[in-house]
Amino acid sequence: MTEPRASDPFTGYVLPPLPYGYDALEPFVDEATMRVHHDGHHRAHLDTLNATIAPYPQLHGMIIEDLIRRLDEVPAEIRDTVRDHGGGHANHQFFWKVIGPPRDTTPQGALAEALDRDFGGLRAFQDAFASAAAAQFGSGWTFLVVNPDDQRLEILALPNQDSVLRHHRPGLLACDLWEHAHYLRYQNRRAEYLDAWWHVVAWDVVTRRYDNFLAGKQQL
Ligand code: MN
Repeated sequence: MTEPRASDPFTGYVLPPLPYGYDALEPFVDEATMRVHHDGHHRAHLDTLNATIAPYPQLHGMIIEDLIRRLDEVPAEIRDTVRDHGGGHANHQFFWKVIGPPRDTTPQGALAEALDRDFGGLRAFQDAFASAAAAQFGSGWTFLVVNPDDQRLEILALPNQDSVLRHHRPGLLACDLWEHAHYLRYQNRRAEYLDAWWHVVAWDVVTRRYDNFLAGKQQL
């Protein structure tokens, strides 16, 4: 943990603005959902996280990714709250980066080759990802990650706001399966949401994340 600097005012983590307009994912993800998801749900995680860690100067000044990676070092009495709301902040910050306006991107280069190698191609990967998402009980996330031991791609389904950071799996892609991510337009139809969601996946960003992993670059 970083050294406490008691004289520093605590400002807390800040909600990053969406890197595109609230309506930019239409018609696949609707504007009303994006507004309440980003300005409501994501902000609520930050508000609770900041209030929780405010009395703990030793936690101030860490980037969110390090706070979650080092959750075992967080004081026990706030660890679950930091896992849930710090994880909620980290997950959503990751999520906004790997989706974007529908542009018909596809996996390229090393990522395309790895999807062939580990899943039998993009379509087979999407089927496996959709199956994992459909099988997930209740709220949670489905991720495409890299296993750092053998560099193979894996699908990882995690409940609630658990984060790939805590499982030491570099994340390439994240899909929010909480009902707030789709309920306004798709109600309880998770599979229909997922079918639409593929249209907003920014495969150029996901490709770059994998290239960065292969190059040994730390990324957030
Ligand atoms: Mn969400």
